[in-house]
Amino acid sequence: MSGPDAETKMQFVYHLRARGVTDTRVLAAMEEIDRGQFVRGIFAGRAYEDMPLPIACGQTISQPSVVGLMTQALKLTGRDKVLEIGTGSGYQAAVLSKLARRVYTLDRHARLVREAQAVFDGLNLVNITAMTADGSRGLEEQAPFDRIIVTAAAEDPPGPLLAQLKIGGIMVVPVGQSDTVQTLIRVRRSETGYEYDEIRPVRFVPLLEGLGRDG
Ligand code: SAH
Repeated sequence: MSGPDAETKMQFVYHLRARGVTDTRVLAAMEEIDRGQFVRGIFAGRAYEDMPLPIACGQTISQPSVVGLMTQALKLTGRDKVLEIGTGSGYQAAVLSKLARRVYTLDRHARLVREAQAVFDGLNLVNITAMTADGSRGLEEQAPFDRIIVTAAAEDPPGPLLAQLKIGGIMVVPVGQSDTVQTLIRVRRSETGYEYDEIRPVRFVPLLEGLGRDG
């Protein structure tokens, strides 16, 4: 499948910069991964607009500038073992895969995991493992993680995820009690505890418990 033309890509990167995505490695990864591969049907032509778009199972692919800012906030080193909660389309995981050693991504909808896996295979992104699971429990068998990114909003950072973060590790998670007002926060784990800082207001679909019923 052919990607976007050079002009579209240039505009995309220019806009990401204007929205505060300044890390050149993050910009390079986002230039490399074609968002058009992760959007289907009538919205496919809008993949290079800075908007969230509908995907299967009533979910959304995040806005590119938010993907960029979250990825940047993780401060990846290239050697990281990353856990993502909320595979969705797989776009965020694909961007992470270019900047980290290994990415585990979980979604509660089996269909989304299946479809994302097919895109990862097509792009030969072999360092991503996608699994159907309730991500609010994390992924005990692969813990601890250098980085954790949650792409669905919780009231508070889930306890199992805090516990599965390495000392020295970073987690990025949208938190908030309502569907409309949430804050993206960064959690750093040190020897003595957890430090929190706020990044910006965001709006994500909710982190729900249990598995989806789509089969
Ligand atoms: N990162 C995605 C966007 C995620 S949308 C992308 O790049 O396209 C949020 C996703 O979180 C949805 O697919 C939803 O099914 C998933 N989700 C919500 N609660 C979850 C949970 N407890 N465990 C795993 N996934 C969850």
